[in-house]
Amino acid sequence: MTWKIGKIGMIILIGFLMIGCGQAVGQDDVKDEVNEDIGANDKEEKETEKITIGLSVADLTLERWQHDRDIFVERAEELGAEVLVQSADGQDERQLSQIQNMLSQGVDVLVIIANNSDALSPVVEQAHEEGIPVVAYDRLINNAPVDAYVSFDNVRVGELQAEYLIETVPTGRYFLLGGAPTDNNAHMFREGQMNVLQPLIDRGDIEVVGDQWADGWSAENALSIIENALTSNNNQIDAIVATNDSTAGGAIQALTAQNLAGEVAISGQDADLAAVQRIAEGIQSMTIYKPIKDIATRNAEVAIELVKGGEVVSDERVDNGAVEVPFVKLEPILVTRDNIIDTIVFDQFHDFDEIYRNVPEEDRPELP
Ligand code: BGC
Repeated sequence: MTWKIGKIGMIILIGFLMIGCGQAVGQDDVKDEVNEDIGANDKEEKETEKITIGLSVADLTLERWQHDRDIFVERAEELGAEVLVQSADGQDERQLSQIQNMLSQGVDVLVIIANNSDALSPVVEQAHEEGIPVVAYDRLINNAPVDAYVSFDNVRVGELQAEYLIETVPTGRYFLLGGAPTDNNAHMFREGQMNVLQPLIDRGDIEVVGDQWADGWSAENALSIIENALTSNNNQIDAIVATNDSTAGGAIQALTAQNLAGEVAISGQDADLAAVQRIAEGIQSMTIYKPIKDIATRNAEVAIELVKGGEVVSDERVDNGAVEVPFVKLEPILVTRDNIIDTIVFDQFHDFDEIYRNVPEEDRPELP
């Protein structure tokens, strides 16, 4: 309730400011109250006003997030909203100040892809006090009053990765390559991986020869982690549980330098073009396709729904340390060499010719 009062107050305030400068305010559910205050002549203008969404992206330099941004903006605009987008380029501080900036520009709702799941409480609190709803996009934000969390089933992602690896390498020496430790998702993926691996570790079928996390999900960090791991294990590694495609890319570079690419099973996630090409070439075992269209459009829809005062229809709630956040949970899809066409190509996520660019024509699958 407190946020609602805050929201109305702020909208009225912005409403008054807008009389002077004629900009958008948004917020359907409080429009009438605003209009009563500012007079009937302005009513028509207010009704055509747009909702403004602040989309704060952790790092647009990674391929995945560029797709997210494009589809999110497209859907939001289709629904009549406008979007301010900013990328924090992997910097916690920058994300905090960009979000503060968006709040002072009067956005109606914040959609945040957190760079650091534990670093955003101050701005989420501030938004909450100002009556601005906050949606955690893909990554949960901890210890803060978040209004909705729209993501994939991240534990399931980790399970799918490990399930595929143990099918390919049922016994052997495994290296665990985690993602950014500051990303809550990285821990959910690991939880899923361990759900599958732990029984085999307990039985002695799998030996974990190393466990490291790649800061910032960076390929460079993954490359040096795996270079060192190969050296210290005399190249005796049978499988690498890489948590996403950028880290898999770095790891495969290290394997290639030792002529081991294609010999060591390795997972991934995101269906980045380079990763799908590697799968087609046989040097990466699998990836996880998380249809960006689904997550981006759901986030845009939920954000707009929240501005309009609607309820978020969620699958479950997750405790983020402060509140039970409604979790809209989407299904991830396993991609291997056998189903690239039925998933990635079928969805037009990447183009057939691009995926098979490095595969000799006679070895390419037929398009149905
Ligand atoms: C996302 C992954 C992505 C990673 C690095 C995670 O939070 O869920 O899809 O690969 O961040 O950007």
